[in-house]
Order: sequence, then C-alpha cells, then structure tokens
Amino acid sequence: MDEFALINRFFTSLGRHSHGSQADTVIQGIGDDCAVLSVPSGQSLVVSIDTLVEGTHFVAGTDPAQLAWRLLGASVSDLAAMGAEPAWVTLALTLPAADESWLKPFSAALGEGLAYYGINLVGGDTTRGPLSLSAQVHGFVPHGAALLRSGARAGDLVCVSGTLGDSRGGLECILNADIAANDYLLDRFYRPTARVSLGQHMRRYATAAADISDGLLADLQHILTASGVGATVNPDLLPISTQLAAHFDNETAKRWALSGGEDFELCLTVAPECWQVLCEKAPSLAAQLTVIGVVDTEPGLRLQTAEGTVSAAAAGFNHFASETRNS
Ligand code: ADP
Ligand code: MG
Repeated sequence: MDEFALINRFFTSLGRHSHGSQADTVIQGIGDDCAVLSVPSGQSLVVSIDTLVEGTHFVAGTDPAQLAWRLLGASVSDLAAMGAEPAWVTLALTLPAADESWLKPFSAALGEGLAYYGINLVGGDTTRGPLSLSAQVHGFVPHGAALLRSGARAGDLVCVSGTLGDSRGGLECILNADIAANDYLLDRFYRPTARVSLGQHMRRYATAAADISDGLLADLQHILTASGVGATVNPDLLPISTQLAAHFDNETAKRWALSGGEDFELCLTVAPECWQVLCEKAPSLAAQLTVIGVVDTEPGLRLQTAEGTVSAAAAGFNHFASETRNS
C-alpha cells in the first residue's frame, strides 16, 4: 500500500463525513494541497496542537483505538478550556509501516471520536518513521469571549469539573498487576472526555480556565501565574470518584487528584456572585462543578491541611507531578 492508497482508504473517507454545526465551513477538505475553510463572521479562530510519541507518551503496542481517543480527547480538551466550539482537525501521522492491522482500528476509532466531538477532519500529513501522532484542532469562539488563563481575580472561587485522579488510578491498574482492573478507571485513562459543552457554557460565568492535563496543581498554577494572583485549595474538597476511593487509600486518591494529570477536566475561576447566579440559573452546570478553593492576592498555591495552610510545593505534591509528567 503506497502513501496515497493509505490516505484514501483510512482518512479521505473520514473527511467525507460532516460533523457538528460547523460542517458547512469546510469549502475544500482532504484531497487538495490545502484545505479551504471559512471562519463564521463574529467568531475568532482558536487553534491548538497535541502530539503523542511512542515511548514518551505511550508504550509500544498500545491499542490504536485508544490512541485515537486519547489524541482527540487531549487536543479537543484545549478547545474546551477556551470555551470554543470544535470545528476542524488536521492529523499528522508518522508510521513505522503501512500496517493495516493498526490503521483499521485507528481509523475506525478516529471516526467515532470525530462524530462524538462534532469535529471535521480536513487534512493532514502521512510520513514514515517512529510512531508519532499529532492532531491540530481548530475551533470558534465569539470575538472577545475566549476563556483565557489570565482573568482570575482575588476572591474568585476555584472550581473543577467532574472527578480528579481517575486517569492516574487507571494507569496504576495497568502498571500494577496486584491491583484489580476497574473498567471505569481504565476508561478514564484510555478515553478521556473533553468537557466541550461545559467550557462553552462557562464563557459567561468564569473569569479564567485551563484544562487539567498536567495535574490540578500544575494547571491551576498556570492560571495563577497568568493572572498575577495566588490561591488556597482545600484537599478535603477535591471531587474523588467512588471507584477511585474504593480502589485506593484516601491519601493516594487525594495525591492523584492534586497532581495525577491527564483527567482532562476543567479548572475554572468564578466570581462568587457569578457562582450564585450559576447555581440558581443553571443548576445542572453547577452540579458538574466542585468548589475547591479561593483565589488570593498573595502569589503562590497553598493547601489547607490539618497542620494549617502550607505551600503546595512544600507539601511535596509538585515533585510527584514532575516525576510522572511526560508532556
Ligand atoms: P501534499 O504532498 O500536497 O502535502 P499529501 O500527499 O501529503 O499532500 O496529502 C494529500 C491529501 O491528503 C491532502 O489533502 C492532505 O491534507 C491529506 N492527508 C494526508 N495525510 C492525512 C492524514 N493522516 N489524515 C488526513 N488527511 C491527510
Ligand atoms: Mg505530504
């Protein structure tokens, strides 16, 4: 199978399906030298790229369907964190060989993911070499409405979506044969779900947002640095799933919720009065969120512990984050 036959068979067909409300913005998709695309008037284009490299981000032999979901989940999650609506994706694949038994399940899962996120495959590149996958996602957000990291203000509440630490728990099930595998935790590791609709809804309530890819402490710190503020987080308030709590002790679950990474939940800051409005007007949105702390004027990230308020760095959690981080 040459490069063109491979592209035709496994990717051009995916590009023919239109997904989401932005399908009509694709004037020319896969098949020409470039895609021709139109940004709707009044919207800004929001762009991000993510790469997975074998040996760095995943082990050799990882199920290609899982790679497709992780690649899309991680890249679309960045759009979610901006409050953007997914529109287009381009895919750069470096493959050691044109292996049909890898390409078929990869392409099938990618197709499912594209439909799930309502995002259109409009182009890419295919080369030979050590296995590596890059997805560049493009989305739209109304002019001036993107959720930036720089908008947090002292007094804002720090909240997170969903539950934290599950992905790290799933990884532990894979790495440690002594731990009974749990389907929910494995799924959270293999198939992270980007919080796209929550991100879009939070444009009107949040002052800042980031997705949690490196771990809550690291990603919240990005918001604090960009905003020139600090925060105090209460680890007892961290949302932990019943499955994570059932499989691991409380301390481990808390540590992973703080710094495990790859949960692809959202971390947001919300002014107290906006939180009030959110709870009253959109209780189903508020139910997806947990308040875990508050933004302070004093720079740095602090944790409330039994011994009092300590800096997160001193509590030793950041060390764990840097040990496991690979992106
Ligand atoms: P060129 O050599 O002009 O860059 P290619 O031969 O690399 O074009 O690609 C042909 C067409 O197929 C282009 O429209 C390109 O965007 C698309 N394409 C190539 N690889 C992929 C891929 N992995 N996924 C989606 N589209 C792809
Ligand atoms: Mg090319």
